[in-house]
Formats: sequence, structure tokens, C-alpha cells
Amino acid sequence: MTEDLRTLAEPTFADLTTLRVGGDMDTLVRTTTEAELIDAVRAADDAGEPVLILGGGSNLLVADEGFSGVVIQDQRSGLRVESADSCGGANLTAPAGHSMDELVAEVIDRGWVGVESLSGIPGTVGAAPVQNIGAYGQEISGSVANVRVWDRGRGRVRTLSLVDLDFGYRTSMLKRSTQMPHSRAGEPGDVDPRAPWYPSPRYVVLDVSFQLRIGTLSTPIVYPELARRLGVEEGARAETSAVRDAVLELRGSKGMLLDTGDQPDYDRWSAGSFFTNPIIPADLVADLPEGVPVFPVRTATPTTTTGPALGTIDPSVVKVSAAWLIERAGFGKGYGVDGPDSAARVSTRHTLALTNRGHATANDIVRLAREVRGGVDAAFGIELVPEPVLVGVSL
Ligand SMILES: Cc1cc2nc3c(=O)[nH]c(=O)nc-3n(C[C@H](O)[C@H](O)[C@H](O)COP(=O)(O)OP(=O)(O)OC[C@H]3O[C@@H](n4cnc5c(N)ncnc54)[C@H](O)[C@@H]3O)c2cc1C
Repeated sequence: MTEDLRTLAEPTFADLTTLRVGGDMDTLVRTTTEAELIDAVRAADDAGEPVLILGGGSNLLVADEGFSGVVIQDQRSGLRVESADSCGGANLTAPAGHSMDELVAEVIDRGWVGVESLSGIPGTVGAAPVQNIGAYGQEISGSVANVRVWDRGRGRVRTLSLVDLDFGYRTSMLKRSTQMPHSRAGEPGDVDPRAPWYPSPRYVVLDVSFQLRIGTLSTPIVYPELARRLGVEEGARAETSAVRDAVLELRGSKGMLLDTGDQPDYDRWSAGSFFTNPIIPADLVADLPEGVPVFPVRTATPTTTTGPALGTIDPSVVKVSAAWLIERAGFGKGYGVDGPDSAARVSTRHTLALTNRGHATANDIVRLAREVRGGVDAAFGIELVPEPVLVGVSL
């Protein structure tokens, strides 16, 4: 069955990623059932071929040389609601291929609470727990109940609980199992030089189950900029539909939405934030220039067993604004390695997004990323960690 699904790949990574760079792929398999998805992964693993599970391509930087292996994309969509009552909240499951933002919109429409601040994040449900997507004070870890995966190591389906998933800031056990050889996204000790699963996780997400609260008032708004936009005190709640509107407006003003318009908006040709915000010991903030924005780091350990949770603040560490460090190191909005006509430039609306100005190659993005990373290191002694998954390139 899987053999029938294999096509000689016509699209390139430039066609299937939001950075719109990257070369060819050997084989693209698009699957429409769970059995097909598992078969495709198992067949490639058995044949010793590298596997890239592709969602919306919004967190990938793939080399101009492309990827020699099998690219597998789950095409399933549709929510399954297991229960929705005021006692146990709303319990629902979505397949990996479902659009994450469509899930957020539907959850709000149905009068459920817990993912409203994640409005506008591109990509699929399957990729969302991999890097524990987050924005404006919410992370997906606060609403996930469990994740069903195909374990490529053991060759069987497993259901992973919150404890197994071990979520952290832009990471999880799923992401760590990718074993990226040239990134510090996992703990250094986790990196296995054989890296057998890279560039995708050992655990292929089949579907994600969520537990949400019933209601129309959001979780507490802890992100100051969002609270200001909504006109509420920090820590207060707001209507979930108003939160979605405000988040989409804020994201739009920063170019942090997908480019879907008729005219190209190159600030949106990105992978979102190119670097994560560095987490440093709280007592080292004094060594940084005055005024550097810092944010609390919340543990992803659930604080409640029924419904959305924001986690508790860990006072020993803080998150430093990578955008601020980049700007202060001399890479302002619109910066390009070759001047204003550079093919790859820092977004003109947000210094954390590296963008393709219409004709960039993966190599152009890499040159810019290296320069920014080196400049921040030289200025502040902080090594920025790339957020997207790098395939065939390294910084
Ligand atoms: C404009 C813009 C704004 C963004 N804003 C944010 C933001 O605010 N917060 C945030 O956290 N991220 C943000 N991102 C990054 C990105 O949207 C998220 O990381 C998203 O979860 C990636 O989903 P995807 O389906 O596109 O994954 P892809 O880019 O296709 O894949 C990313 C990784 O996940 C793996 N993967 C994909 N599907 C599966 C699966 N079913 N099982 C196992 N592994 C899988 C891939 O193999 C790869 O390693 C933004 C990106 C863009 C372009």
C-alpha cells in the first residue's frame, strides 16, 4: 500500500516550507490514514532511509542540496470530541496533520478555554508538542492531556503522558529524541552521535489529546503587551475571542503570521523566531546592560489535573529577550549581510525573525544567522540557539 503512495517528488522544500528555501527531496509520501502513516515510517526505517516527517514546514531550514531520504506528510484532519461537560471540561483529540490554528479557532468557537493565546501559530497539531509551541504567556503543554505516537525504536504505538513528555521551554522529550547533532536544543548529554532518528523525532506523533476548560473567559493574561492591548490588568482574564483577535493583531504587526495575501509580504517569509530566548541564571542578569527585558521561566509541570495550566515560576532562572540582544548587538530591523539589497534580512518588523526577501537561498539564511549569532556572542557572551530544525545545514 505504501509503495503506491510514493511519488517522485515534484515539490521542493522551497515550495513546502515557510522560509521558502531548500532543495529537492528524493521521495514524498502523503498519507491519509494512521495505518498509512505508520507503514510509511516503518518501511523507510526498515530500509535504513532517513525520514523527515513534514508538517506545515514552518519550523524547518533545509539545505539548498535538499534531503536524501523519505519525506512523509500526514494529511488527516478533523477533531474528535470525547466529552464536554462542566465537571471534566472538554476532552478532544486531533490527528497530527490537523492545522493547529484551525484547532485554536474551533476551540474558541465551541466555548472552550486554554489555547487562545496560541492563535496564529502556523503548522500542525503533530508538530505542536514537539517544541512545545508557546506565545503570549501560553504553551501547548498547559492543555495537552497525552500524545499517541509511533515509537520507531520499539516498533509500536504508545500513549505518552505529561510526565513522559517532559515539556520545557521550546522543548520536550519528543524534540530531544530527534538528537540534533549540531544543536543544543536538548541537553548535551542526550546527543547520540549515531543520531539514528534525525531530522525527525524517534516518536512520530499520531494524534494529540487536549483537556480544556469550558467557558469563554481566557486563562489569566500574564503577558504584559497582550494585557495592555486588551485593556486588562496583568493576571486578569478576557473573552477568549477578544484574546484571539488581539493576538492576531499583535502578530500581524510583527509579521508573525503566514503570508496568505495576494502581494508577497517578505517579513512573513520566515520560520517565526529564528532563535530561542536564552535562559540564564537569575543572578547573571546584573552582568547584562541595564534595561534588558527578562521574562519569568515557568515550569511545564502541570499545576492542575483538570484543564489548562500555566505552570509555576522558577525563580532561579530568567528568559532574556533574544530580540533585544540581537538589536543591541547591531543587527537592527531590516539588517542584511550584504546591505539593504540582501536576499536574506532580519525582518523589518521583528529582529527575531530572519526572512527571505523573495530570492534567498538556504545558504543566504545561514550566512545571516551565523553573523547574528556571532555578533551576539561577541557583544554579550551569550550563544543563541536556533529554534528551527536545521536539515543539512549547521550554524
Ligand atoms: C510566521 C511564523 C510564526 C511562528 N510563531 C511561533 C510562535 O509564536 N511560537 C512557536 O512556538 N512557534 C512559532 N513558529 C514556529 C512553528 O510554527 C512551530 O514550531 C510549529 O509547531 C511547526 O509546525 P509544522 O507543522 O510547520 O512543523 P514542521 O516545520 O513541518 O516540522 C518541525 C519539526 O517537527 C517535526 N514534526 C512535524 N510533524 C511531526 C509529527 N507528526 N510527529 C513527530 N514530529 C513531527 C518535524 O520532523 C520537524 O523536526 C512560527 C513560525 C512561523 C513561520
